[in-house]
Amino acid sequence: MGRNEGACLICGEALEYFREAQEMECSICHKKYTGYASCRHGHYVCDRCHEEKGLGAIVEQCGKSTLKNPVSIIQAVMENPYIYMHGPEHHVLVGAALLTAYRNSGGQINLDAALREMESRGSGYPGGACGLWGCCGAAASAGMFVSIVTEATPLSSKPWALSNQMTARALDAIAGLGGPRCCKRNSFTAAKEAVLFTRKNLGIAMELPEKIQCGFSNENRQCLGKNCPYYGPGTDRRETDLKQAGFAR
Ligand SMILES: [Zn+2]
Ligand SMILES: [Zn+2]
Repeated sequence: MGRNEGACLICGEALEYFREAQEMECSICHKKYTGYASCRHGHYVCDRCHEEKGLGAIVEQCGKSTLKNPVSIIQAVMENPYIYMHGPEHHVLVGAALLTAYRNSGGQINLDAALREMESRGSGYPGGACGLWGCCGAAASAGMFVSIVTEATPLSSKPWALSNQMTARALDAIAGLGGPRCCKRNSFTAAKEAVLFTRKNLGIAMELPEKIQCGFSNENRQCLGKNCPYYGPGTDRRETDLKQAGFAR
């Protein structure tokens, strides 16, 4: 199932972004919100409606996973049709995969409680914040992961510093690759930085793939292509599907 290439969930048209917030009615729940994007037919879908089913899938799949590699967990969950090409569900996905891999690598946490907390915090982080706030939600999600495992609060000392350092590292790596935004590229980058940071600062060694390879290039109209470190042979899903079906070119 396609994910509408990051476009309108109602009609599939490309989204248009505004510089200033506008009051709009969600085309699904019909509540009024201020938002920054709609398609040219005026469809607007609120963050809650956009991510509702995806969040359930994230918590369920992470709760069952035995993998120690957060990137592999993220890639498996991204196959769920309710995890769209882009969207605020990635703000929960990154941290949830990290919590899962951390527990599976020997980290002492109550995973069910941690995942519920991750869902609560990550779903409070709005879509589009990368471009509008200057702080990508995938990076913030990595910071939330460190905050949850170190039990940081605004009054903590070292956990407070570690959580903010984690977000900063992930954000710097994400920014270094340049825009436009890609929730896949940003998620992989934040998870990779979090594995390195956690090994060094928290003494838990999660795993990473030898090479991270994205399978979503052809679903992203703004894919950087060869300028993305995760782009490569097999990245075009349609080509892979054709080969698997015996139609190799
Ligand atoms: Zn539309
Ligand atoms: Zn809604």
